[in-house]
Amino acid sequence: MEQTLVILKPSAIARGLIGDILARIERKGLIITGLKMMQLDEAILREHYAHLVDRPFFPSIVESMTATPVIVICLKGVDVVSVFRKMTGVTNGRNAEPGTLRGDFCMSGQANIVHASDSVENARLEIKRFFKPEEIFDYTPLMLPFLYGDDELK
Ligand code: ADP
Repeated sequence: MEQTLVILKPSAIARGLIGDILARIERKGLIITGLKMMQLDEAILREHYAHLVDRPFFPSIVESMTATPVIVICLKGVDVVSVFRKMTGVTNGRNAEPGTLRGDFCMSGQANIVHASDSVENARLEIKRFFKPEEIFDYTPLMLPFLYGDDELK
């Protein structure tokens, strides 16, 4: 099954949104295979946001992403990368659809509460960036037969 990397950003931690976001992840039926709190630094952010390093607002991203620890989460599910991107909503919370995490919980293009991998290949690289192999638990939850039809899991 596919996996994706989620970061609960300082804008979620500081605003007390951890429980609300995790509740939505669980209610959707996504399987949490890794979860930990960590403090990011500029070095890991230069890797993670390599596509933005040359933009004038990059120092501001570093400041906002290091303001508090973050929570990194690895999720598993069928097509989970695109499913969780949809649940996240577009980058700017002011434009994100109601019903999405950003649409419901934030008003900012920068302090937008969650990161979600944008492709299967980036998810693979990002999971490796934030988790050691032994921190990912590839168990089968008992509820699995109630999450999917038989032929969806083959
Ligand atoms: P997404 O997080 O939706 O995949 P990007 O990869 O384009 O979006 O940007 C990564 C993160 O950088 C965004 O989530 C946001 O926190 C920050 N960011 C993007 N564009 C801007 C901007 N113009 N000004 C400030 N921060 C930005």
